[in-house]
Amino acid sequence: MSNKLTIIVPCYNEEEVLPETVQALGLILTNLIKQGQIDNDSKILFVNDGSQDRTWDLIKKYEDEYPYVTGLKFARNYGHQNALLAGMTTAVKDSDLLITIDADLQDDVNAIYEMVAKYHEGYEVIYGVRSSRETDTFFKRNTALAYYGLMKKLGVELVSNSADFRLLSQRATQGLLEFKERNLFLRAMVPMVGYKSTKVYYARKERFAGESKYPLRKMLKFAVDGITSFSTAPIKMVMNLGFMITIIGIILFIYAIIQKISGHTVDGWASLMISIWVLGGVQLISIGVIGEYVGKAFMEVKRRPRFRIEEDDYSKKENK
Ligand code: UDP
Ligand code: MG
Repeated sequence: MSNKLTIIVPCYNEEEVLPETVQALGLILTNLIKQGQIDNDSKILFVNDGSQDRTWDLIKKYEDEYPYVTGLKFARNYGHQNALLAGMTTAVKDSDLLITIDADLQDDVNAIYEMVAKYHEGYEVIYGVRSSRETDTFFKRNTALAYYGLMKKLGVELVSNSADFRLLSQRATQGLLEFKERNLFLRAMVPMVGYKSTKVYYARKERFAGESKYPLRKMLKFAVDGITSFSTAPIKMVMNLGFMITIIGIILFIYAIIQKISGHTVDGWASLMISIWVLGGVQLISIGVIGEYVGKAFMEVKRRPRFRIEEDDYSKKENK
């Protein structure tokens, strides 16, 4: 059985950390090879996501220097998730285990040893989970926490405090790549693939050098993408609001009629009040109904795989 590992590293303007990253990951890789945990031809794959700085030149240089370094270059900036996807698509062909990790060394590279050990125990999906976020700002820590909570409420399965540091087996990666959607939120897609999974804990560190490549604007877009790509709950909320307003309308209707009969009203008040509330409610319900169909169409156009077989004893028997 072969055990070729590829470590996929998305890089966007990372010239400041790259020298350190290539050292740290190279050390891990060579150690794992020495220990016989992974094959000699294991690789580090840097994906240059349209950097404007010297990132690609550095990757080229390391390719010459180290036999285990390879690179992919995007024609422009396509974003972190697409860089991960491209790396996996390229490496999955001949890699038995694939690890994705950020270039900035915030995730503890030493957790890779444990991930590989877990892989040998038979796990195929291994999440890197932050046991502490002390180095994150108060703002980031709490917004992240609230966000994970909200996603759970909306019915999106996520592994709390895990981002894009994980190990996937070859077939789990193939499974992930069968998700054909354009709006990528990989961390919520991975649990949908299935297979035996586990977690490896590590303390998240400060960025080694350089600045975060996720400014608030990008982070917000990513967060909204995460919700709207996995859940039609916001559409259902419109529908529920419609029902609520309609009920209020009906109560007001009764109230207005009583007021009208007892003669407490100005002319036209009752009919105006009733039409505002009842019509408003009916309109919201109608939008909700249309939304339900749009939501269904939205889920259909994703063309997600409907199942993934882990073991097929039937075909095994046929081939005997
Ligand atoms: N990244 C990328 N393309 C982008 C933005 C970020 O490939 O458009 C990479 C970046 O180089 C890093 C990883 O994604 O390896 C995570 O980015 P960063 O560390 O800046 O995010 P943060 O940890 O601040 O959330
Ligand atoms: Mg980072």
